[in-house]
This record gives sequence, structure tokens and C-alpha cells, in this order.
Amino acid sequence: MLVNNIYQTIGNTPLLKLNIDAPNNIKIFAKLEMFNPGGSVKDRLGMNLIENGRKIGKIKDGTTIIEPTAGNTGIGVALAAQQYHLPVKLVVPEKFSQEKQTLMKALGAEIIHTPSEDGIKGAMAKAKGLSAEIDNSYVPMQFENPANPEAYYKTLGPEILDDLKDTTIDAFIAGSGSGGTFVGVTQSLQEKFPDMKAVTVEPEGSILNSGEEHDHRTEGIGVEFVPPFFEDITVDSVKTISDDDAFYYVKWLADNEGVFAGSSSGAALAAAMQLAAELPEYSTIVTIFPDSSERYLSKKIYG
Ligand code: PMP
Repeated sequence: MLVNNIYQTIGNTPLLKLNIDAPNNIKIFAKLEMFNPGGSVKDRLGMNLIENGRKIGKIKDGTTIIEPTAGNTGIGVALAAQQYHLPVKLVVPEKFSQEKQTLMKALGAEIIHTPSEDGIKGAMAKAKGLSAEIDNSYVPMQFENPANPEAYYKTLGPEILDDLKDTTIDAFIAGSGSGGTFVGVTQSLQEKFPDMKAVTVEPEGSILNSGEEHDHRTEGIGVEFVPPFFEDITVDSVKTISDDDAFYYVKWLADNEGVFAGSSSGAALAAAMQLAAELPEYSTIVTIFPDSSERYLSKKIYG
């Protein structure tokens, strides 16, 4: 495949049929988003946020892009902003992986840390504050911007439908951080399969099932507030997965499928296995593996 620009390699990732012995003879398919050039599903988002900002006139020559992020969105935004030589400031709570922060800097972004205990809300407030101080700046704000779910509605959903041709999709399951991936893909798939169940995944310590808020090792998913995008779909259920279960499947994937998947992928597979036990025999589940374990190796995920 000859490409003239790395931008052209975003999307069209493989959909893997997992060789896993799931309950009820359920088939599980996972979209391998670590195959994107920035290494995660968020390259799709970075591109759409920057293109949308240009389209609506918020991004002009030299506009400083400021975004609160757990890391992968920062890499995606930095990659897309580089195409237009735009300066990028990423506001990142300290706790997130060093590897992701190193990659953001390698792409030319500046990192501004906020205290871990202030969570993503602290990073959002800091990004808004910075934008008020810096002339010609723009905060795409993934947590509120409809261009977030739209990124996946336009690309990831249609790719899955195309990959599976006429196979009926009975359930879609994806983790939620901003909720953009889960909502955008659900909207796209339900246009073809209106009865498809939409199930989201969170780690223990996230609040969707009214659990108590606390820290977790599973990175990239988990929310401090219900994502506003959830208003646009019906969420059939929320699976809350322990760190131990997520990391069990991270190891399982490396051991059995040769797939280096991050902990949010492990949580997605753990949730898919739970859901399989509740579905009629021979149903089909589709899920998303958002990134690779390689950006978490410093966290000793393989022991
Ligand atoms: N997994 C990982 C590794 C992520 O970085 C993210 C985004 N924070 C997600 C899952 C969740 O994606 P979304 O923000 O679209 O809900």
C-alpha cells in the first residue's frame, strides 16, 4: 500500500474473529484499533476534531489547540494538528501512562499536568482557563463536542458493517471514557440492526452503575460523570469490570491470539464474555480493542 501522508493510514483496521470458547457458542469480533498510526482508536477522533474545527472556522492559521486528555486523544490530536502546523497544548492528569506522554511530546505537543486527584474534570477546567488566556486558541473539548461520536459514526461503524457483510450483529459492546466510541458506533450499527443491544463497559471505580468513585488500573475508560452523548441512544446495560478481570484478558490475548492489547481491551473482552452468557445461542457480539499494551509496559502489565 503506497501512501503519501500518514493521515491516509487512519482507519480501515482489521476486525478479528476471536478464537475464544465463549458461552452459548457466541462469536466475538474485535476491531483492532492499535493498527492506527498513532496506535489507538483516537486517531479517528483527532482527525475529526481538527477537520471539524477548520470547517466551523474555529481553527485558522496558527490557532493553538488545547485539549484535556487521558493520553490517546492527545496523540490523535497532535498527529492531526501537525498536518496544519498548529501548536498543541495537552492538559493531562499526572497519573496517566508515561509512554503516552512521551509520544505526545514526540509529535511536538506541550504537556501541562493537572493533579491526579482532580481527575479529568480538573483537566477540563484547566484547558478552559488556558484558552481564556491565549489569543487565537481553540479547545475541541472531546467530552462535549458532537464531532466526537460523529468521528466513529462516519468511519468505525461503517467499516464494521462492511467487514461483516450480512452477518447480523446482536450486540455491540465498548468501553466509555468520553463515550464517543460507544455512542457513535452504536448509532451507525443500529441503522442496519435496530434491535442490536448496546452495552458499555466501565472499570470498578467508575460511576455508571452507581458504584463508588475510586482509582483503577484499567486506563482510558471509566467516567466521573455520565457522558452527555448517552442521551442520544438507549444504553441497554453497563458492565462493571474489575482490574483483575481486565488484566486477565490482556494476558489471555497475548498468550492465545498474539494480540498486544491495552487494559480497556481486556475489560471489553471480559464484558463480552459476561454478555455472551446472557445472549441466545450463536449470537454475534462486536467489540472494540482501543489500543496496544505496548504503551503500558512500564506498568508491568505482563508481570
Ligand atoms: N480505551 C482507551 C485506551 C482510551 O484511551 C479511551 C479514550 N480515553 C477509551 C478506551 C474510551 O473511548 P471514548 O472516549 O470514545 O469513550
